[in-house]
Amino acid sequence: MSELSLDHVTKVYQDDDEEIVAVDDISVDIEDEEFLVLVGPSGCGKSTTLRMIAGLETITEGEIRLGGTVINDVDTQDRDIAMVFQSYALYPHLTARGNMSFGLEESTDLPDADIEERVEEVASMMGIDDLLDRKPGELSGGQQQRIALGRAIVRDPELFLMDEPLSNLDAKLRAEMRTELQQLQRQLGVTTIYVTHDQTEAMTMSDRIAVMDQGELQQVGEPLELYHDPNNMFVAGFIGEPSMNFLHGAYSDGTFVSDLFEYPLGRAIEDAVSGTSELVLGIRPEEIEVLDDAAVGDDPAHEYEMHVTVVEPMGDQNVVHLSRPGTDDMSDNLVAVTEGLRDVAEDSTATVRLPSDAVHFFDGATGVSLHNRQLDLTEETLRL
Ligand code: ADP
Repeated sequence: MSELSLDHVTKVYQDDDEEIVAVDDISVDIEDEEFLVLVGPSGCGKSTTLRMIAGLETITEGEIRLGGTVINDVDTQDRDIAMVFQSYALYPHLTARGNMSFGLEESTDLPDADIEERVEEVASMMGIDDLLDRKPGELSGGQQQRIALGRAIVRDPELFLMDEPLSNLDAKLRAEMRTELQQLQRQLGVTTIYVTHDQTEAMTMSDRIAVMDQGELQQVGEPLELYHDPNNMFVAGFIGEPSMNFLHGAYSDGTFVSDLFEYPLGRAIEDAVSGTSELVLGIRPEEIEVLDDAAVGDDPAHEYEMHVTVVEPMGDQNVVHLSRPGTDDMSDNLVAVTEGLRDVAEDSTATVRLPSDAVHFFDGATGVSLHNRQLDLTEETLRL
């Protein structure tokens, strides 16, 4: 039995005369001890989903079950759930110790000494013992978020719900806290649902990712599954940074024809796309090969001369913007990623290859994936 089940859950807000479907018929099962990241752009219904699980919003339709029990009508304080928010929501007049013990004092009849012991234990595990006697105003953002996390952990809940907990931190601290949080979750083994709009957090922290758009669940899967085998253009474009390139075109006689180039399809791709006239070719920037002179001509059918418009050196890699030869027209450009030490000059001509085992094809009308890149991956590899 799954730890938490969302069964055809819908939330409709009534805003004057207008009905807003914030969450549209979502079903997902979360396993015990799993770290599930709910990801999607702003307004896609992530927080509303989390708030329904927490009991902070009513459920319009469907059922939420925790440990097999329907919790639709259970009060928030009676659900064995702890939440961590973007705003740390610490009491300013209480010390860190006071903030961490407050929930336990209110919701349990544990003796003060036991609460104190539990707070010390969690603080020590998290390496925040030396902060316990400070008030929030004397703590940095990262330290405050650690206290807020500690406060959730001391409650030893059945479920953690986290709503963008790292988004107020600067980039470096956010990266550190990602690792820390992930380790803590593994160590504690508490089932966690974590909401973010940041695909990097989703990819790096989760056991599985649930991608949402416009209230609807687009796909649920392990990070690499979503990256390599997306259900549709939304998931393909949302997961991965820089985003997957999409070229709109059409099928014609065994070839994908776009304004930028013609791309001959092999038998497998042809079978997958046959019958669909409007097509979109997708390829990830890291799969586009910017060729050395010596490599040009190995697969001439899938090689194209492009104009290098902009090169963004990131140190470990270069992000290379390519456009139609002879133009700076960025409208149907491609973005490629090359190795950082590779010298690619701006305003030059480059030959690029789009390997046929790395391209995706989508139905241009519906966005549904027709053919995903072919990887010889076993279940084991995907789990690494
Ligand atoms: P996310 O967390 O993904 O940014 P939300 O769950 O906050 O998205 O919101 C989903 C949709 O529901 C949005 O269109 C938002 O405007 C709408 N919404 C959220 N809360 C309310 C509310 N209390 N009343 C009316 N509409 C709301």
